[in-house]
Parts: sequence; structure tokens; C-alpha cells
Amino acid sequence: MSTQEVKVKVVVRARPLLPKEKLAGEQSCLKIDSPNRIVVGRKESYNFDRVFLPRATQQEVYDYTVKPLLIKCLEGYNVTVFSYGPTGSGKTYTIGGYSSTQGEDERGLIPRVAEDIFIKINEIKGRKISIKISYLEIYKEELRDLLDSSMVKDILIQEDDKGSTIIKNNKEVSCKSAAEMVNLLEEGERNRQIGATSLNEMSSRSHAIYIATLTQTWSNQILNDGDESRMEHTLESKFHFVDLAGSEGPRKMELSAEKMKESIFINSGLSRLSKVITALTDKNSSHVPYRDSKITRILKDSLGGKAQTVMICCINSSSKNMDESLKALNYAARAA
Ligand code: ADP
Ligand code: MG
Repeated sequence: MSTQEVKVKVVVRARPLLPKEKLAGEQSCLKIDSPNRIVVGRKESYNFDRVFLPRATQQEVYDYTVKPLLIKCLEGYNVTVFSYGPTGSGKTYTIGGYSSTQGEDERGLIPRVAEDIFIKINEIKGRKISIKISYLEIYKEELRDLLDSSMVKDILIQEDDKGSTIIKNNKEVSCKSAAEMVNLLEEGERNRQIGATSLNEMSSRSHAIYIATLTQTWSNQILNDGDESRMEHTLESKFHFVDLAGSEGPRKMELSAEKMKESIFINSGLSRLSKVITALTDKNSSHVPYRDSKITRILKDSLGGKAQTVMICCINSSSKNMDESLKALNYAARAA
């Protein structure tokens, strides 16, 4: 696999101050003076493929990040979107996890791609396209099935002889409409909350991976020694949406042994992901350390090669969160 082909698009999305933050007198610490540049505080400036202003709409973010990936996915390539950033910066909002409580305009990336996939399915003639959804959570390097809370068997990550990732013992659900895809997202999101001791608790410490597997089948006529016969074709590709764990370190008041352990797991998962992406974008790197974490093992066939990846780095505009925002931007700048 040539590492030169690797494309990782890195974008930043700064969320607006929420009404309660404005009321509390918080101020923005960001300056976005071009579509590619963000300045934090007085000095630190970063360049990315695109920087979205706080007033950017969900549709604008979708058009730039996911729409081109859907075309690639329909061509048969595996694609991945990550939302990365501190807790409260808009990762779940961007990916689409709040779909049931949101209006049309506010819907995130997954509900939008669901609509577009089914529009394409109806447009594309001569091929049958079917969709299966799985939805997993990684918490402290353990896999949980967000579509099946009864889970009797351990979920396994394996690789077939072509190098494709195979996930075993998880629930996969066939979808016939965009609404079904969104229902599964909501079901998973509800399961993600179970066990949370406070709002946002579990979701801020786990990675959630929503996987849409597209299977396209078609046949064409071939002439073999004067005999006509039909040849069947199958093309499979995967679309991953990854809502990553909060990028912040543990808060001072949380430094119990258990919380420390948890944060080591989370941060090592994130740093391993960063190592994989850095190795893929570095022409001189010969070893890509996929095996080091669950998240990189699941995505092994979808990072690198002809696969395409978009990293959305979410940050909060408030000056109160400046340190966390700087850390997140430094991480994202390494992947860019
Ligand atoms: P995270 O998943 O990173 O912890 P959330 O997606 O839960 O963060 O966002 C935190 C809060 O900010 C939520 O109340 C969400 O509705 C709001 N929010 C996030 N991004 C935006 C945005 N672009 N516009 C308006 N509100 C947003
Ligand atoms: Mg979240």
C-alpha cells in the first residue's frame, strides 16, 4: 500500500457560545479571518483545509465534509468521518446524535447522509444497493454493541484474506429507508447513555462508531465461446462515523485511581489514532501501528490506501475553554 495516496481532510468547526454562556458573560477567543485559518487568543494561528465559523450551518459542514465521501463510498471505497475535540465542543451535535430533539435545519451529518444515500439508491439504475447498520462503542478498550444491550458474546475484530475488517458477534440491521437509519442512531444514542452517572458522562469517555455497510450488486451479459451468460458482481464499502471521546485530560477533582485509569485508556486510544494518521500521511514511514488499539483495528481497512478520511476538530469559541481548544487544534494540526 502506498502511503502517498492517503488523503486526510482536516477541518475545524468552532461552535457558537450557547445562550447560557453568553448570559454568564463568556467571550469568544477566536478569530477566523479566512476559510483556512484560525487564530486563538492573540497569537496562535493554524491552517486547515477549512475552518467553519460559529454560524456555519449543518448543511454547509455536510456539503464540504460528507457529500464528497458519499460519492467515494458509492464508488466502492471505505470512508471515515471523525469528530474530535473536548467535551461540550459540538462533536455529537455535528455527527447527528441529537437527531430526535432537533429540527430539520439542525440535523447532523448522519441524518443528512441517510437521506442522500436513499436518493442515490433510487437514482442509480442497474444496481441493487443494500444498507446494513452497526453501531459500536469503545469504552476503556472494550467493545459494546449499541444496538444490542443484551450482548451475550464478546465482539471480535478480525481480518479476512483481503485485509478487510470483519466484526463478529455484533448486531447488523438492514435498512430500507433513511428513517430506519436515523432510528438506529437514536436507539444507539440512548444505549450510550445507560450507565452514565451524569449528563454527558459516558459519552464523553467513549468512542461511538456508526458503520453503514453498502453492498452493491449487479450483473452483466458476457459472451463465452458463443454462449451467453450473466456475470454477477458485488461491491462492498463502508461509511464510518466516529464520535470520539472527549480530548480533555481528567479534571483535577476527578483524580481518583479509576478516573486516572480511564483517562489513560482514552488518551492512549486518541494518541494511537493520531500515530496511525501521522504514519499514513508521512511518506517516510514504513510501519503503520494499526494493531495498537481497538479503534485503529476496526478502521484498519478504512484509513490509508484508497480510503478517504475527514477529521472534524470541534472547539468551543469561549475564552474559558482556550487551553482545551489549543490542545485540540494542536492534535488536529498533526493529522493535517
Ligand atoms: P460534545 O459531543 O463534543 O460533548 P455536544 O455536541 O454535546 O458536545 O455539544 C454541546 C452543546 O452545544 C449541546 O447543547 C449542543 O446542542 C450545542 N452545540 C454544539 N454545536 C453547536 C452549534 N454548531 N450550534 C449550536 N449549538 C451547538
Ligand atoms: Mg458528545
